[in-house]
Amino acid sequence: MFGGTFNPPHMGHVSAARACVRELSLDRLIFMPACLPPHKALPEETASPQQRLEMTRLAAEQVPGAEVSDIEARRGGRSYTVDTIAELRRLYPEAELWLVVGTDMLMTLENWRESERIMQLASVAAVAREHGERERLREKAAELAERYGARVRVIEAEAVPVSSTMLRRGEGWELLPADVAEYIRAQGLYPPSLEYLRAEARAALSESRLRHTLGCESMAARLAQLYGADEYAARAAALLHDITKEIPLDKQLQLCAEWDIITDYSEENLQLVHADTAAELARRRYRMSGEVVRAIKYHATGSAEMTLLDKIIYTADKCEETRGEYAAPERELALRDLDAAAIMCMERSAEYIRSRGGVIYGRSVQALENLKKRRENMENKAFTPEELLERIVRTADTKKANDIVAMKVTEQTTLADYFVVMTGTSSTHIRSLSEEIEKKLKDEGVTPHHTEGVTSSWILLDYTTVVVNIFLQEARELYALERLWGDAMNVDIEEYKIKDEGK
Ligand code: ATP
Repeated sequence: MFGGTFNPPHMGHVSAARACVRELSLDRLIFMPACLPPHKALPEETASPQQRLEMTRLAAEQVPGAEVSDIEARRGGRSYTVDTIAELRRLYPEAELWLVVGTDMLMTLENWRESERIMQLASVAAVAREHGERERLREKAAELAERYGARVRVIEAEAVPVSSTMLRRGEGWELLPADVAEYIRAQGLYPPSLEYLRAEARAALSESRLRHTLGCESMAARLAQLYGADEYAARAAALLHDITKEIPLDKQLQLCAEWDIITDYSEENLQLVHADTAAELARRRYRMSGEVVRAIKYHATGSAEMTLLDKIIYTADKCEETRGEYAAPERELALRDLDAAAIMCMERSAEYIRSRGGVIYGRSVQALENLKKRRENMENKAFTPEELLERIVRTADTKKANDIVAMKVTEQTTLADYFVVMTGTSSTHIRSLSEEIEKKLKDEGVTPHHTEGVTSSWILLDYTTVVVNIFLQEARELYALERLWGDAMNVDIEEYKIKDEGK
């Protein structure tokens, strides 16, 4: 019996199975796809037990004498090997049973449910997953034999280092049996390999745009490594970012209608639609994750809230190697400071559009503004919103502000994380409150992004993540901010106040 999740089955499984059939002269080898593996969580939205059974049947065709059993899939729930082996023992009372395991499974065999019983009911055939692992297997085999009387045989087979995890990430697809690969594609099961995506780009793009796309892939991969983003996601997004760019505009608009893509481009910005169609194609045809889809969608414009991957793809697109000397400053900067490079690219692109009398698309304006704002804040000092909030409340409380309320507004707006409202007893009091808060925070290196005496009875301090409103009582009632943000959650700030012992 060769148990596993087989999500998907690969040449590592096939080669291990073939070697066991050969070395142990097996009459029959039974692949046993688990319903739910007891030792690992299945990824979300992954292949169903039925699909895994189907794929394992296709892989089993490559192994002489192999068949696939649905005992575990039918039993449902967590699949414990001890139950299955006991059932096989009942079905084949005369048989000599072998349990096939790879290195990782032999190493943990002792921890399986009723492992000693498993070792009594079956002999174990251990196959190395990586090169040079056989010695380790032999040592473990001796240990299990001594401790539990297990009969373990280390199979002499060339290792095929591949895992289902890798394949689900789209890597190493050459190590999938061809029929299994075809099934995966037909069912749209896992994202495809980078090699496959490169071939798709090659088929869809002119030579020069392909060169740009591959340049973008290398740059995105480099930035992903540098800044800790997912390299596969970065490469895939780069490979697909322009995949629809050479489709004529009228056809792209047709696609938008078909796929319910809604955009608000003006006539002169209409060419930006390629980013939307490419993103949707990435989602539909290539099964890309949400983060890849959005990085493609925003690659040409940026967006108000850019993720790390968004910034990587945006920047790589603008300054990859084939853009030449013109983009060298951005390219060099990107390796040191991604945000600064993204800002530089955005400013350069805005300048170019303006120089040709064009209009800059609203989303790009927002993207640039927000990146700059965040940066200013970072340069100030990186306090978390909660740390800022605590300091503001404590200072206000020390200075006898009345009725301090803090609201968490992350659900309501991207403008800030917290809104703080407080009342002062006179114009002098509200001014001294604002001055004190500014001074206290400045001592710690934080200055507001923006301050405003909105009216003589309302002062606003904008610390980006926390916005402070200091009112006189009538103004507070008049503007009724708390009612305006009525859905926001009030934050318990009592402990911030208590901490201040000097009050
Ligand atoms: P995942 O990456 O999802 O954890 P996997 O590649 O380890 O999956 P499973 O279906 O969980 O595949 O493995 C089933 C059995 O096959 C286990 O005993 C495992 O050790 C063994 N096995 C997996 N890959 C190989 C391989 N490349 N060579 C030999 N044995 C393998």
